[in-house]
Amino acid sequence: MSLECVFCGIASGNIPVQPVYRNEEFMAFADLNPQAPVHVLVIPLKHFTSLMDVEDVSYLGRAMDAVREVVRILEVDEFGFRVVVNTGNNGGQTVPHLHFHILGGRVMTWPPG
Ligand code: AMP
Ligand code: ZN
Repeated sequence: MSLECVFCGIASGNIPVQPVYRNEEFMAFADLNPQAPVHVLVIPLKHFTSLMDVEDVSYLGRAMDAVREVVRILEVDEFGFRVVVNTGNNGGQTVPHLHFHILGGRVMTWPPG
């Protein structure tokens, strides 16, 4: 856990949020600045700075399973959704704690900005 990390603060409960989902390894909550009618973040409770810092590939499989579970809870599975993992400066990552954006509730465009 990193003391200065906002998502570690959320994971530990020091920064209160309304969780959408939580299991032993991951949690999900609404994005503060939503970019779609449905915009939820899934984060590992453990601190990883980015996708590239996870060594255990099976952990990423469990992360995707948590994402799919949240997608079902949000009921965006039928019409579709987008999962985004911004990584590093060029990827547009602003919070250096791995997170999966789930965006839904509207038709997404391509290419993203
Ligand atoms: P990224 O640019 O991929 O690093 O995304 C970081 C996301 O975290 C942004 O969409 C922010 O709106 C969101 N965010 C930052 N702080 C909070 C917070 N305290 N609660 C919810 N979402 C947050
Ligand atoms: Zn963190």
